[in-house]
Amino acid sequence: MRAAHEAVAYVGLGSNLDGPVDQVRRALEALARLPLTSVTARSSLYGSAPIGPQDQPDFVNAVAAVTTRLSPLALLDQLQALEQRHRRVRQRHWGPRTLDLDLLCYADLHLSTSRLTLPHPEMPHRRFVIEPLAEIAPSLTLAGASLTAWRKHLCDQTLHRLAP
Ligand code: ATP
Ligand code: CA
Ligand code: CA
Repeated sequence: MRAAHEAVAYVGLGSNLDGPVDQVRRALEALARLPLTSVTARSSLYGSAPIGPQDQPDFVNAVAAVTTRLSPLALLDQLQALEQRHRRVRQRHWGPRTLDLDLLCYADLHLSTSRLTLPHPEMPHRRFVIEPLAEIAPSLTLAGASLTAWRKHLCDQTLHRLAP
């Protein structure tokens, strides 16, 4: 579905299976090819310790800024189709995956439906989201607070910059 206006949205990417660096790089390229959508910025690649089950490899994470004329649900459809093209298999909650694409926020929309919650409810608490976002959108605010403010409340989750 086409939105009336172009919106700025942020997408979080993560992978910890089958060549995660390559999975994330290919996904960033694929985002740029989505219909009615352009990638305007993308962060470096970061390495992070898994949240949830610890018996799985570390993750590679990044975030991308896009402008899109897709509606939020149409964009989520596209992101989930892209996960499927990366052969994502859902086994356990927060388990290992070839590709995870979370719609972090879409303009300043607040939404709570069975398929889509915006902004993504966990994003302010996740270092692997906040640090890459601060790299590409330092003046972004979440729930009225700056990324700098959110950073102060992050728990000490391991994160390091892997590659440009
Ligand atoms: P988390 O959401 O805590 O990062 P996850 O990414 O492992 O966990 P998934 O299994 O990828 O969770 O997604 C579960 C469901 O979350 C999806 O089927 C999707 O409909 C829903 N969902 C709700 N809000 C969002 C959002 N903002 N971005 C992506 N998926 C969302
Ligand atoms: Ca996720
Ligand atoms: Ca997800």
